[in-house]
Amino acid sequence: MRILLAAPRGFCAGVNMAVEALDRAIALLGTPLYVYHEIVHNRHVVDDFRAKGAIFVDDIEQVPVGANLMYSAHGVSPAIHEAALRRGLKVIDATCPLVRKVHLEAARFARLGYTIVLVGHRGHDEVIGTMGQVAEPMHLVESVEDVDQLDLPASAKIAYLTQTTLSVDDANQIIERLRVRYPQALGAAKEDICYATQNRQEALKRLLPKADVVLVIGSRNSSNSTRLAEVAQEGGRPAYLVDHAGEIDDGWFRGKQAVLVTAGASAPEALVSECVNRLRQRFDASVEEHTVRHEDVEFALPLEVR
Ligand code: SF4
Repeated sequence: MRILLAAPRGFCAGVNMAVEALDRAIALLGTPLYVYHEIVHNRHVVDDFRAKGAIFVDDIEQVPVGANLMYSAHGVSPAIHEAALRRGLKVIDATCPLVRKVHLEAARFARLGYTIVLVGHRGHDEVIGTMGQVAEPMHLVESVEDVDQLDLPASAKIAYLTQTTLSVDDANQIIERLRVRYPQALGAAKEDICYATQNRQEALKRLLPKADVVLVIGSRNSSNSTRLAEVAQEGGRPAYLVDHAGEIDDGWFRGKQAVLVTAGASAPEALVSECVNRLRQRFDASVEEHTVRHEDVEFALPLEVR
């Protein structure tokens, strides 16, 4: 069996920044160090930091007055930030700059009097943070059908934004439908789906014809990892999303000639190596890395930990 290892895969610039920021914050400020939501959506990364003394919370009231609090890469709403300041918390903001860009677009559209439609997944930390950026309610759409259900006047002044980690094809279909219903709808000057999400999906799609099955390494609550598995399935290949090698079922690969291996933007490379090694041992597989695009994006650490 051949293992086609997709590149780029795994950690993006935002996850690299957030993980390094938390490592440095623990080293500089000591523990316990509180983090609002999981620092990134990966079980292994979160468990590792928990063992080092990070405490992950979903409610600011759980953080003792005056403690250190880091915001995750997914960002927070202004209401959460204000609550943190009222509590006297010392905030370290590890929001990915590409999520912050969407926040700024939301604020700008709201200032200009637009009704905002957000394409995203209900309940995702990033979506909650983005929806909280403006006082007027945003209209969340998850599908083409949701666009059909929108109850806005035909002439409404509409702007749309998207979550950063969507399937590019699904988002395009939803936006197309929105533009059919509301031709005047205005999007952000630059696409909201981030470079890392786009590149990982592009690499997967380009390599898919060479593979019979796909293995995606990532956690189930990681939006971009789940989307990679969906993109593979939509491309006609069985795809399996695993957190680590222990979740692999050998039956998935029996009789297959080529397996495409990729990883979501929050999955550490060590877990990819673990999975690849397991496939090599069980199936005497050879490994070929296929680089579809080079990435050299880096984000600065939050000031407090530089
Ligand atoms: S996936 Fe994209 S938006 Fe999310 S942290 Fe990475 S670079 Fe930022």
